Amino acid sequence: MSLTDLACKRVQDLIPYQSARRIGGVGRIYLNANESPEGTYNRYPDCQPKELLEAYANYAGVSSDHVIVGRGSDEIIGLICRTFCEPGREQVLITPPTYGMYSIAAETNGIEVVEVPLKDDFSVDIFAIRKAIQQNNIKVIFLCSPNNPLGTIINHNTLEEILVETAGKCIVVVDEAYIEFSIKDTALKFLASNPHLIITRTLSKAFGLAGIRCGFALADTEIVELLLKVIDPYPIPTPVSDIALDAFKEENLKIVQDRVSRIVETRDEFSESCKTLKCIDEVFKSSSNSVLIRFKNSDKVFSEAAKAGFILRDFSKKPNLQNCIRITIGTKQEMDELLNFLEGMQ
Ligand SMILES: *Cc1c(COP(=O)(O)O)cnc(C)c1O
Repeated sequence: MSLTDLACKRVQDLIPYQSARRIGGVGRIYLNANESPEGTYNRYPDCQPKELLEAYANYAGVSSDHVIVGRGSDEIIGLICRTFCEPGREQVLITPPTYGMYSIAAETNGIEVVEVPLKDDFSVDIFAIRKAIQQNNIKVIFLCSPNNPLGTIINHNTLEEILVETAGKCIVVVDEAYIEFSIKDTALKFLASNPHLIITRTLSKAFGLAGIRCGFALADTEIVELLLKVIDPYPIPTPVSDIALDAFKEENLKIVQDRVSRIVETRDEFSESCKTLKCIDEVFKSSSNSVLIRFKNSDKVFSEAAKAGFILRDFSKKPNLQNCIRITIGTKQEMDELLNFLEGMQ
């Protein structure tokens, strides 16, 4: 089966909206897009700003026809659901606890979600995934590495097994929103030999640009073309691509790298210090910019922390995460303040 055959029929047959920019043409006087003749931002942007694709491709070490840019990786997650799943007939598979947007993106598009929970040690349950694939019409598998909220990395042998199992049958997405915090663990090396693999990335976390809404996917060119049939005509505002482009200048990449090192160092120090606290049962090892902590009484910690001005993320109502709170790593000073507070909790 070709990758195009994996897309839903609707998308295979779709002729994308022919925006003025897409039809293109290079000239002296532009009278084709009903734009204003005057103004700073009077022209529609390219659907996929070429320079930005090239900058990201260069940063990621792939060629630019393997890159798609969207309004955050959340938009790309939605695009993947709509491109490959027939509502009511085909499903996406997720491995909870995991990022919440996969099921929202699927369900808001009428696509059912099949859940294959992680094992007790938070590793992916390959046998259960195999069974779920046999029993359903799963078209997309969402894996998150480093996982949110756990901070865990998917084992590469497991990923390889899943890729073998799914070749020609479904798309495997590895969400690498946090990969800069553990770049050695990227699944990029699997891309060339696995055309059904999509890696999603974002500028929202390590790059510190959550406010501009800019995310990427790395995939086979055939997948890129399919996703481009479904994407909105102008997803990337001109100021966004300008700011994003700036982020890939060498001196700015260096700033990001230094910040990542600092956050990783702060995370490890904070995690170590937490292990000695009376109010804490377990600190999970993280490869991300947050740590998941199991408290003795998370409700109490959560509400007392809020009163003291610390806004944390409660995961205690999620399956397998009783008494767990996720804490994003802030500055060293912020984490010291939180530690001080936690030391006072009994
Ligand atoms: C934050 C996050 C995203 C969303 O990224 P945007 O590019 O801001 O849309 C995607 N996946 C995971 C796992 C995240 O934690």
